[in-house]
Amino acid sequence: MRWLLMMWMILACGAARCEDARPTPDIVEVLRVSHQKQLDAMTPADAASPRALKVRESFEKLLRGLKGPALSKVELRVVRGDIVGETLQGRIVVANVALADLPEGERIFILAHELGHVVLDHWSQMGLVYAKWVPGPVEQQHTDAIADRLGRDASALAYRQEFEADAFALSTLRALDLPDQHVLAAFMTLGWRNDTATHPGTRKRLSALRALAPDGRSVQP
Ligand SMILES: [Zn+2]
Repeated sequence: MRWLLMMWMILACGAARCEDARPTPDIVEVLRVSHQKQLDAMTPADAASPRALKVRESFEKLLRGLKGPALSKVELRVVRGDIVGETLQGRIVVANVALADLPEGERIFILAHELGHVVLDHWSQMGLVYAKWVPGPVEQQHTDAIADRLGRDASALAYRQEFEADAFALSTLRALDLPDQHVLAAFMTLGWRNDTATHPGTRKRLSALRALAPDGRSVQP
């Protein structure tokens, strides 16, 4: 959710001045456009390549086992570049073609985390937080005054959503009878990360997952 950071930059520089769109867009439209720009900047992987097909196969395997109205509009885009996995506009899951090189359990955990954002309707929840602070057209005079408070609220929600998506991915992994060790392995593959404005760091995410473990199995480093 690096887009949150981008949003704060947009707010800080005054969206009404930065965006030429007419009429003045509301904040959710500004968010949608910001996601679209990120999508447009991504490099698609060769969709027919064995690696891209492998990622898609895992994604479809997950979809077959999941339910929820949000899934009817979900879309997968397999890309090259720096992004490992990301969900944009609440329904477009972006996955790096390099996920094909991971053991299936790790790939499933990373994809299931992204699908968790879709199933749990995180996009709408985040839109509500933004709309609460910027209820009308996005105008610099207003957004400057509330940017810090919006940032705090959005960051708190983004953290909660990351924990929820991790929990969703863990339970999905277990439903597929895949061992919990894939979770730790996936985090190690992603590399140790500290807290950011939009993501809790690895330590917090792993301890949140360990705290779940209601069935006796646990994610232990
Ligand atoms: Zn996430």
